[in-house]
Amino acid sequence: MREINDILKSCGFQFKKQFGQNFLTDKNLLSAIAADAGITKDTTVLEIGAGAGALTRALCEKAKRVVAFEIDRSLQPVLAEALAGCDNAEIVFRDFMKCDLVALEAELKEYVVAANLPYYVTTPVVMRFIEEAKGCKSLTVMVQEEVAERFCAAAGTPEYGAVTAAIARVAECRVARRVPRAMFIPRPNVDSAVVNMSFVKDRIPVKSAKAYRETVRCAFLSRRKTLENNLLACFRLSREQAKEILSAAEIAEGVRGETLPPERLARLSDLLFEKGHIK
Ligand code: SAM
Repeated sequence: MREINDILKSCGFQFKKQFGQNFLTDKNLLSAIAADAGITKDTTVLEIGAGAGALTRALCEKAKRVVAFEIDRSLQPVLAEALAGCDNAEIVFRDFMKCDLVALEAELKEYVVAANLPYYVTTPVVMRFIEEAKGCKSLTVMVQEEVAERFCAAAGTPEYGAVTAAIARVAECRVARRVPRAMFIPRPNVDSAVVNMSFVKDRIPVKSAKAYRETVRCAFLSRRKTLENNLLACFRLSREQAKEILSAAEIAEGVRGETLPPERLARLSDLLFEKGHIK
């Protein structure tokens, strides 16, 4: 088979910056990413952004089935050649953000996500799985290095934020490998990292996922404000009610939301939910 670079050239492919097209070609790296995703011959893989198909091919070699979304139809001839002989690959030329995830999951059943994500849409894609997915076992995704740090951050660090707390409720998150910018064509301005998020049933149990989401949003609403003041602003609590809730959650006065680990945010969200402050 010809190298990806040669296929792209002979197809006259023009990279489109607006789609976050930074492709991988290194076979060892591609195979390592497929291994990071824990793929076996029983695994169904969902890839977002097939690009020139180099990662898709590496996934196909290890998986039972690979369903790959790609927004850019002009990659069709490139993918046809790059995936020749990969009988377990299916390319869907569609914007993943517009696909019906419920219908897709009904078709895939149990699956893992493995992708070199288009960076302009990284967080919305990840949050879609974190908040809506039912059959997803894990996400193994290439993201900008600083985004990877945010996803896996510890409470109280500058990188810790609402996205970290949302992920931590449902999944174990770790940086599987760092990938220098020189590994991509064209070369982006930042380094990257592969993050593995493995879903764990009841990792941090809550009475209401919606209440947890709203509590997290509130806790990080204004980083300069105390949690108490953010609670007043978000849920129209009286000062008295806010103090009562915080005391029941064993959270000291003057604490800022960003210092609270996800487990403590979960306890707070349960109390806000039970007392009817979040419906
Ligand atoms: N998987 C390839 C690789 O590793 O070389 C390509 C990765 S590249 C970073 C991201 C790919 O996602 C691009 O091919 C881009 O066209 C595609 N893409 C961008 N936005 C998308 C969307 N909303 N839905 C599906 N594919 C998208």
